[in-house]
Amino acid sequence: METMKQYIDDAEAALLHTYNRYQIVWDRGDGMYMYDIEGKKYLDFVAGIAVFALGYSNKAYNDALKAQIDKVIHTSNYYYNIPAIEAAKKLKKISQMDRVFFTNSGAEAVEGALKAAKKYAYLRDGSTDHEIIAMNHSFHGRTMGALSVTGNPHYREAFEPLIGGVKFADFNDFDSVKAQVTDKTCAVIMETVQGEGGIYPADETFLKNVRELCDKNDILLILDEIQCGMGRTGYMYAWQKYGVKPDIMTTAKAVGCGVPVGAFMMTEKVASQSLTSGDHGTTYGGNPLACAAVSKVIDLFEEMDILSNVKQTGDYLYEKLDVLAAKYPAVKAHRGIGLIQGLELDKPVGGIIQSAIDKGLLLINAGANIIRFIPPLIATKENVDDMLAILEESINEN
Ligand SMILES: *Cc1c(COP(=O)(O)O)cnc(C)c1O
Repeated sequence: METMKQYIDDAEAALLHTYNRYQIVWDRGDGMYMYDIEGKKYLDFVAGIAVFALGYSNKAYNDALKAQIDKVIHTSNYYYNIPAIEAAKKLKKISQMDRVFFTNSGAEAVEGALKAAKKYAYLRDGSTDHEIIAMNHSFHGRTMGALSVTGNPHYREAFEPLIGGVKFADFNDFDSVKAQVTDKTCAVIMETVQGEGGIYPADETFLKNVRELCDKNDILLILDEIQCGMGRTGYMYAWQKYGVKPDIMTTAKAVGCGVPVGAFMMTEKVASQSLTSGDHGTTYGGNPLACAAVSKVIDLFEEMDILSNVKQTGDYLYEKLDVLAAKYPAVKAHRGIGLIQGLELDKPVGGIIQSAIDKGLLLINAGANIIRFIPPLIATKENVDDMLAILEESINEN
């Protein structure tokens, strides 16, 4: 068998170098744990970046996928398939939206959301110079449209010009959003909890004020729930905690628990006055395999009572990280809700994360100075205690 080092050398010779990867080659996962090809076990507080909500090797999930593989994996959106119908009905129910379009990724869901907003405004006034307000420090994906509304100049610069008419405001600063509104504004897009940007939850009054501003000016509110959605805050979608309903929303990451799938969804009001036959499409989107995953994930969320677990474990994690933050002067801030939390340090956290990995704990950063906690949603208090013991040792060593 090749050694880990040999695999890594092969990878670096064959893959485009767009990631600085940790030096681990994975073999398999089981519940809250991952195993590398040398058999080393890691407690996972990353979940493949907020994806594997149900934990690894969930038997019911795996069986559902295997059964669908033996029937048919792909058909086409020119026909109907039962998994897509079932998944769409279930997604409507949990999201309180009226219409679903399945995509292959988060970025593609954002693209669709932007197109729907543009079409809505176009049908309203016939003009093609509409503007979108997005947030500084946001993250919406790497495709050209999603990048256009991503408030991180470092990700965007080399790829300009991106789509025009995007203005940036400060998240949780209502006046800065208001200042960007013109009669051309068609949408405001934001994450309900900013993820990659550093785990910043929206303030309730901010969100409510933006909703009111949108209503007054017939501007569509797009909430990107790709990372904070699907139970991670203790609510199916984070906006449900605030009671501020978007006109269009996106979901991905945990919605398929590892099968590449996402969706953008909208209210009937938007659906009936935006995208129509021929306006949008995708070959794979909503294929039977991906939708069998979505359908099973939603069932299992209910059967396993994932939301209560997130509330309990999330509250416990919050308390414990508060204690840790008070103990270490290097910790500047602690933010988050449920099982999406962050610790901001006064220095880059790369050393701490590497120490944790060496000790068998997976953590990931969000920006240079923030440690992000986004475990599978089955995490228990005991998992939190185990994680904290290694985290403290790692902080002490760095
Ligand atoms: C991950 C993420 C995306 C992009 O999703 P991909 O599946 O990587 O394209 C978009 N928005 C948010 C909030 C995300 O966290």
